[in-house]
Parts: sequence; C-alpha cells; structure tokens
Amino acid sequence: MPHDVIVIGGSYAGLSAAMQLARARRQVLVIDAGLPRNRFATGAHGFLGQDGRPPEDILRDAIAQLEAYPTFDLTHGEATDARRDGDGFIVTLADGSEQRAARLVLATGVTDELPPIPGMTERWGRTVLHCPYCHGYEVADLPLGVIAAHPMSAHQAGLIPDWGPTTYFTQGVFEPDAEQAAHLSARGVQIERTPVVELLGDAPALEGVRLTDGRTVTVGALFVAPMTRPSSPLAGLLGCEFEDGPMGPHVRVDEWKQTTVPGVYAAGDAATPMHNATLASAAGVLAGVGAHQSLLR
Ligand SMILES: Cc1cc2nc3c(=O)[nH]c(=O)nc-3n(C[C@H](O)[C@H](O)[C@H](O)COP(=O)(O)OP(=O)(O)OC[C@H]3O[C@@H](n4cnc5c(N)ncnc54)[C@H](O)[C@@H]3O)c2cc1C
Repeated sequence: MPHDVIVIGGSYAGLSAAMQLARARRQVLVIDAGLPRNRFATGAHGFLGQDGRPPEDILRDAIAQLEAYPTFDLTHGEATDARRDGDGFIVTLADGSEQRAARLVLATGVTDELPPIPGMTERWGRTVLHCPYCHGYEVADLPLGVIAAHPMSAHQAGLIPDWGPTTYFTQGVFEPDAEQAAHLSARGVQIERTPVVELLGDAPALEGVRLTDGRTVTVGALFVAPMTRPSSPLAGLLGCEFEDGPMGPHVRVDEWKQTTVPGVYAAGDAATPMHNATLASAAGVLAGVGAHQSLLR
C-alpha cells in the first residue's frame, strides 16, 4: 500500500490529522482543492496564537511545518471518487490519477448557502458574517443585524447585543416563539418583519438594508448563520451515514472520528454541527490519532 492514510481536504482539520500521522512516521498523503471555508475573510480570529492572521498565511505556515516530515506528501487537486479496494481504499482525482491507502480521513468541509439577497455574496466574510465569536469584536458598537436563515437564527439574534445594538430581520418566515420573543425583548433586540430585499453601500462596506416596502434600516454589519451542505460527495459515495444538524447534514462519527464505514475517518465542519477552526483542528487531531492506532490492529 503506497500510503498508510490519505487525507482528503488540507485545511484546519485535514492538516491537523496529517500532522499526527506524519509525527507517527506514517506515510500520509493530503489531497486538497485549496478552498478553505473562511477564505473570504481577511483575518481568522479566536485561533490561539494566530488571532487576526489571514487564513492563507495560517495554512501556508502549517504546510511548511508539515513538509519538514519525510513521510508527508501533498497533492493539489480534487478527489472525485473514493471506494474500498480489498483492505484499503482507492481515491480517484479529477485528472484521472489514482492513489491507494489503508485508511481515509475526510476533512472536506462544508459550503455555505447564503440567502439569495442581492449584495450578500460580495460582503461574505467582511460585513456579512457567520459568527460573532469569529468577527463580532471587529464590528463592535456598530448597528448590527441578524438575517434569519433557519429556526436557530432567533437564538443568534439574542447573542448579538453583546457586540452592538441589534435588529432581527425575520424575513417574514422565522418568527420567534413566545419564549424567544421575550428573550429578544429583554436583550433590547428590535424585530423587523418586513423582508430585506437589498444590501446598501459600497461593497464590501455595508451602510444599511432596503426592505420590500422601500424603507431602509441602517446597519454596519449583518450576521447570518447560513444553511450548509457537504463540500464533497465522497462520504456519501463511500456509504457513510449522516446526521441532521440545525444548519445541515454532517457525517456521523464516533469519539475517534471514525465514520460508520470502518477505516474511513471524518473531521472538521464536515463531521460536526459546531463550525470553528479550532474545533476542526482538534477533531483532525483525533482523526489522525484514531486512524494511526487503527493501523496497529
Ligand atoms: C466567512 C467565514 C469566516 C470564518 N472565520 C472564522 C474565524 O475567524 N475563526 C474560526 O475559528 N472559524 C471561522 N470560520 C469557520 C472556519 O472557517 C471553519 O470552521 C473551518 O474552516 C473548518 O475547517 P475544515 O478543515 O473542516 O474545512 P475547510 O476549512 O472548509 O477546508 C476543507 C478543505 O477541503 C478541500 N476539499 C473539499 N472537497 C475536496 C475534494 N473532493 N478533494 C480535495 N479537496 C477537497 C477544500 O478545498 C478545503 O481546502 C469562518 C467561516 C466562514 C464561512
């Protein structure tokens, strides 16, 4: 078997898995398409020792450190298929080449499905933000908004007043229940039921939003926790089971990040409803250690 482990996805989760495997002196190949989820942000926050650094700098440094290990290898490209082959697995890349390994780690992340409101995409990661813990500090004290994207959005709206005066835009569909409405009121959140149809200002800056009735509301930043979908179909192709999370499906894993398919591990956003670079990295560590120890049995 040319590789002990193939890691598909070379971002926080995948590179953390690879680090454990390389340090265990195992042959590990990372295949990465180069599209980490937070690539739209100019700085990543809350990642210990890396606070505020551009995501591409963090990953570049991680790869440079991994390349010092002789059993680490990295291929840029997309894995388009993966299947069992005897005791191991065959991974096919978009260029038609194939790679074999005894174990797989899927660290392929998720893709955000932003609400279809004009002006959102070009501000994503800059003034349209997914998480206050990642980017709230940088927009603190501005007038802030939360655009409802799913039933958990009212919960997010209750958090945001710790960063600035908040308006919750229900979009006419995600009406808070009585308990949520009482909580939002106690937190001083304004509730706006007329849908937002357009974001205003010179993107990526944001000055406000226009509502369907023509009114405008001043906001300097918007939070939206969007629905997500797996960035890759590989887990499904391999037969891994999924669980439904509040924001979308994720691969089911055990405490060592093994999926329901023996020998296939999954880590990071693809395998949890809790999406954060540190958590993805920690899950990658578990997957790397889990995959390594499975090779001993
Ligand atoms: C705009 C934005 C800003 C964020 N800011 C922060 C922040 O400041 N702090 C924080 O802690 N979290 C932040 N997050 C969350 C953070 O980005 C994710 O939790 C983290 O990136 C998850 O890491 P991951 O390794 O699981 O997946 P990802 O980072 O999404 O990486 C997945 C990798 O797998 C590759 N890949 C996918 N499919 C294939 C395939 N078939 N073949 C080969 N490669 C493939 C992708 O190209 C990508 O490189 C932010 C998220 C967003 C959307």
